[in-house]
Amino acid sequence: MLDTLRRIVQDINATRDLSEALNLIVAEVKAALHTDVCSVYMTDYNRGEYVLMATDGLRPGAVGKVRLKFGQGLTGLAASRAEPINVENAPAHPAFRYVAATGEAPFHGFIGVPVIRRRRVLGVLVAQQREQRKYSADEESFLVTLAAQLAGCINQAEIRQVLARLDGDALSGTLFLEGVASARGLAIGEAVVVFPATALDRVPDKDIANPEAEAARFRQAVAAELAELQRLNERMRLLLSPGDRALFDAYALLLSSDSLVNGTLERIYAGNWAPGALRATVLEYANIFMEMDDPYLRERSADILDLGQRLLDRLHEEQVVNRHYPDHTILMGEEISVSQLLDVPPEKLKGLVSVRGTGTSHVALLARGLGIPAVFGVSNLPPGRLNGREVAVDGYTMRVCIQPSPPLRQEYLKLIAEEAELSRGLQHLRDLPAETPDGYRLELHANSGLFADIAAARNSGVEGVGLYRSELHFFLRDRFPGEEEQATLYTRVLRIMDPHPVVLRTLDVGGDKPLPYFPINEQNPFLGWRGIRISLDQPDLFKTQLRAMLRAGSVYANLAILFPMISSVGELREALELLRCAQVELQENGVPVRTPRVGIMVEVPSAVYQIDTLVRMVDFASVGSNDLTQYLLAVDRNNDRVAKLYDPLHPAVLAAIRHVVERGQAAGRPIGICGEMAGDPASALLLLGMGVDSLSMNLGSLLKIKWMIRSIRYAAAQELLAEVMTFDNAAAIRSRATLFLEQQGLSGLLRVGR
Ligand code: PEP
Ligand code: MG
Repeated sequence: MLDTLRRIVQDINATRDLSEALNLIVAEVKAALHTDVCSVYMTDYNRGEYVLMATDGLRPGAVGKVRLKFGQGLTGLAASRAEPINVENAPAHPAFRYVAATGEAPFHGFIGVPVIRRRRVLGVLVAQQREQRKYSADEESFLVTLAAQLAGCINQAEIRQVLARLDGDALSGTLFLEGVASARGLAIGEAVVVFPATALDRVPDKDIANPEAEAARFRQAVAAELAELQRLNERMRLLLSPGDRALFDAYALLLSSDSLVNGTLERIYAGNWAPGALRATVLEYANIFMEMDDPYLRERSADILDLGQRLLDRLHEEQVVNRHYPDHTILMGEEISVSQLLDVPPEKLKGLVSVRGTGTSHVALLARGLGIPAVFGVSNLPPGRLNGREVAVDGYTMRVCIQPSPPLRQEYLKLIAEEAELSRGLQHLRDLPAETPDGYRLELHANSGLFADIAAARNSGVEGVGLYRSELHFFLRDRFPGEEEQATLYTRVLRIMDPHPVVLRTLDVGGDKPLPYFPINEQNPFLGWRGIRISLDQPDLFKTQLRAMLRAGSVYANLAILFPMISSVGELREALELLRCAQVELQENGVPVRTPRVGIMVEVPSAVYQIDTLVRMVDFASVGSNDLTQYLLAVDRNNDRVAKLYDPLHPAVLAAIRHVVERGQAAGRPIGICGEMAGDPASALLLLGMGVDSLSMNLGSLLKIKWMIRSIRYAAAQELLAEVMTFDNAAAIRSRATLFLEQQGLSGLLRVGR
């Protein structure tokens, strides 16, 4: 049965569209189970019905016509219970419904298995038998496994349908796709697709005007790769046996072979760009090897793929340098890395769209910091085919519109203008304090990390920079910046904000932020080597950064230093000790040093429970709610599969933050929040109720949050907090807080995306 299953799955993957795939499934399942009927019903959520989409055994005319209301019949039961229903004699079952149009009367044996993807029932796979029949446990698990495969196929098929529509008439090709998270705002522009380094099989075809230049580019990549292989071979001479080194010779041979190189060149001269031509040639060549009987030769296909990948990486390296970004660039990809984002000139970057990713990935944070609208987790987006198309990004509804029709385009442009109007309307709040009508005053700070936003921060009336993500500067380099370079940078930042405080956070790389020149390969990066852990293990790098910060602080008195990812008292002690060493070193060199304010980020649960001790060792604490939520809820902040579980309004997260605020303030230390919560109106409202001392957020949210604070009485926020702390789930808390904002006449705020 396993072989049959594997074969069916392979066959399905080779089909061109969903209806072909469904027809194939019903035919193959019917044969495999030796049963009379196999059908697939798909869910139509708009109409609350299941529609018969394919059948082998029922009247073919019923396809598309037979519709069952949600919950109706045994099929509906399988869907509503989200589990298989296997009955020997269907008509005797209380849920049985007779549907005349299917010609169903004579069937007795019934099994229905729901097709589920990410908790949504996409449809039901049904088998029926004329006689009474109880399908065996094996048959049931066969169908369950197939249904899981089918769910993936439906997603793939949706992508193909999207492509087919896009390939059609450009005017009727407008298409909406939904994501799971966003950065607020609206944008319209031209898609520029970027690829991860590992996507040989996903490289699209692209027409080129100058095949000669493209061929030269490819030849250069081949020559460079050959030279690299020779170098590697030399270097490995002492480490590997000649047998093991034969791999390099095999690669070199492949690179000199006609098939791979000439095959690619031929395709380039036929008008395809080098990566597309390479992909087609390598896959064709690898397939030939894959089908050989000799196991040794079969394995060579992996070498060919690997070599193809290496060549592709070379081609891409070059392409990144030469990339042309249009004036209204919408950056798009399976996944967008921080360095890909930073590669685009800021004035040209208008929006971001990615298949994977969530609202608290660092790319999302960066997008928000720069005020760039984005939609993440658009699972049926086919980026490989969208390069150069017009795309509208709606970060409020988490939707992406591909090829908007002219009226729709007008509508987006109008909304973009209105949005600009709204923020102009809030400008009068710029120089007013963030103070509630009943006199509770807190400070609003900006999150920053780039020059572009620090200058903007200075001009928008913030009371300081609450989080300067120093690592962003490290991403823009091809090596660690030295002490001099860093000192110049930090001095500039302090000068721009002077006399307002600037909280410089020490390097927080690792997790989803590996530096290109300091790769960290870990199974579990968020639980691995990141933040202060790296700094303590590399005291040379850490002290260089601390000295640079202190030097800036000797010129301007507004410096504060923040340690990320503190998870124990020992770590903090070591960090403080290294800070002291850095001070002494500078003094020994005659540099006058001021003692800066020092703080910790509370973003690891252990720090919540040791807050009494930790906070007394420093001057202040700042809650990093992005990581705190991820670690408290055990939900990877970058994984779109679990994005729905990620919510900082989870009662456990709120309780943890309240604990930190209460204990920190009892020790006489101010407590701020610098995670994304601070800029989300519903969350900020509850943080206000906790009496936090400051909120630090991206600039785009600042005036809106100030508007909220100036409109709501502190006592009312406290009461609301007390009420929601009795709730047991995030959804209830969010809707209560949202309702409260609406009742206060602040619904305008609610367009602010999370
Ligand atoms: C946080 O974790 O909330 C935080 C502000 O730090 P980062 O998002 O940079 O990890
Ligand atoms: Mg963090």
